[in-house]
Amino acid sequence: MKKSLLFLFGIAANVMFAQNKFPQDAFIKPLKIPTVFAGTFGELRSNHFHSGLDIKSQHRTGLEVVASASGYVSRIKVSHYGYGKALYITHPNGYTTVYGHLSKYGPAIEAYVKQKQYEAENYEVELFPNPDELVVTQGDLVAYSGNTGGSGGPHLHFEIRDKNERPMNAQLFGIQAPDHKDPILKDLVVYILSDSSHVNQSQKRQELRFTKQPDGTFLAEKIRAYGQIGFALGTIDQQDGANNSNGIYSIETSFNGEKYLEVKMDQFSFAETRYLNRMIDYELYEGDRKRVQKLFIERNNPLSIFTYEKNKGVIDLTQNGNASVYTIKVKDFQGNTSTLVVPITIAKESILTPKEIKTTPYFVEAETYKNFEVGDWEVFIPEGAFYDDYYLDITANTDALHLDEDLIPVHKYLRLAYDVSAFAVQDREKLYIGRVNYRGLLRYEGARLEDDHLTASINALGDFKVGIDTKPPKIQSLDFSDGKWISNLNEINFKIIDEDTGIKSYRATINGKFALMEYEYKKNQLTYSFGDGISVSGANELKLIVTDNVGNSTTLEATFYRK
Ligand SMILES: [Zn+2]
Repeated sequence: MKKSLLFLFGIAANVMFAQNKFPQDAFIKPLKIPTVFAGTFGELRSNHFHSGLDIKSQHRTGLEVVASASGYVSRIKVSHYGYGKALYITHPNGYTTVYGHLSKYGPAIEAYVKQKQYEAENYEVELFPNPDELVVTQGDLVAYSGNTGGSGGPHLHFEIRDKNERPMNAQLFGIQAPDHKDPILKDLVVYILSDSSHVNQSQKRQELRFTKQPDGTFLAEKIRAYGQIGFALGTIDQQDGANNSNGIYSIETSFNGEKYLEVKMDQFSFAETRYLNRMIDYELYEGDRKRVQKLFIERNNPLSIFTYEKNKGVIDLTQNGNASVYTIKVKDFQGNTSTLVVPITIAKESILTPKEIKTTPYFVEAETYKNFEVGDWEVFIPEGAFYDDYYLDITANTDALHLDEDLIPVHKYLRLAYDVSAFAVQDREKLYIGRVNYRGLLRYEGARLEDDHLTASINALGDFKVGIDTKPPKIQSLDFSDGKWISNLNEINFKIIDEDTGIKSYRATINGKFALMEYEYKKNQLTYSFGDGISVSGANELKLIVTDNVGNSTTLEATFYRK
């Protein structure tokens, strides 16, 4: 009785969630062109789940973006990175729509933002207008699409958030694209999850082959296994009209017909998004660029996208000799389904390849604070920095620190400190801690001086080294040279580059007055628009100061003339 009630309730809740909970006519598409997705909600990205829909803009910038529903502009954020120029509209139904990577805002909003940027004397601003300041009606032009911030090509990032700032799958509200293609299955991996378990007489992670069957399903190679095991799957989805590798909508697993796990991309919260690194096989991703998601829930994995679990998705194989099947069903939002079947023979056998654990003096436990002193370096590890317990491989050689490899995910920032007491005080100012990247180049991580220590916060393991940056940034004027008439230009551009530690800040004035420069880090470019009206007719004195992350700065001074 109890069971059937639960069962009924489960079905009712599901139907409600799928059909009634989300208004279908409240939001219109923000671009007036056919919808093609360059990215979908919940798609697995680097260190996060994608929180919106990336809508393609026909490889162009400057397409009109309209308010998806009536409401008021509740937040505007302009930043060099992230969403670049972003707009937030709050609606009477409690939802907020978000528009990112914009090239500029609609006229009224643009004027509002410009005024605030000039007041703050800063390109980067975050504004929270009052509900009566910038009221919009559904369909109003509110912005132009672009490629600002951390965007790899022109598109509109569109989100619907609930009252609690939790991003929702906008497809639930009818913002959809045609899709007749089944999800693509890429990699299948099996894991041994207890000390006595084994698969094919091994305790190592194994990739399994699978082939398409005449009926359209996929069949994996048969495994012989015993004890607790789990699987991971690499899968993507493509929609009609584009070849972008987008995310799938749901995965359901079952063992001998019984449901074991369900993952569904309806919504999540920003607080949990970094736990993506717990869900994927981080080592396989960083090591082999294979992004598989585990279909079992390990410790320190609080992700809310798991909408059903039995035994945490872990399969327990104990009845020797039994033939069993593990099934994975992957769906995209339109319901196209790919099914993968893994035949399993349960067999307790001798283990030929046992699990290996390499021990080191640097043992970290997921829940415990640790700090290690190695040579001239100190490593501070807050509690909760790791999802699991590990023996880290740490060595130091004067100004170089080997802090294991970027194959173990780090959830919280670790702090590195390097003893600089051997350096003269004035030299310390130019030191920085950098990460040695895959090409052997040093990438800036931090340069804080605290007493006799140079410190940096890092959120990935790897190799670090102390660098010295005495080279100031380079500035190149792209559109005019000193003393020229430039009446016909609408804007002037400058290339700014700092090789070692990178650009920290920039500031321009024309005739001593602040002049707003837009910084596009992907092009190393600063742009001033004459529409801002700072210049005068006749001679104008431009001054541009660019500073790097350890305080080296370069000043460009030039005169230009305008009618
Ligand atoms: Zn996006």
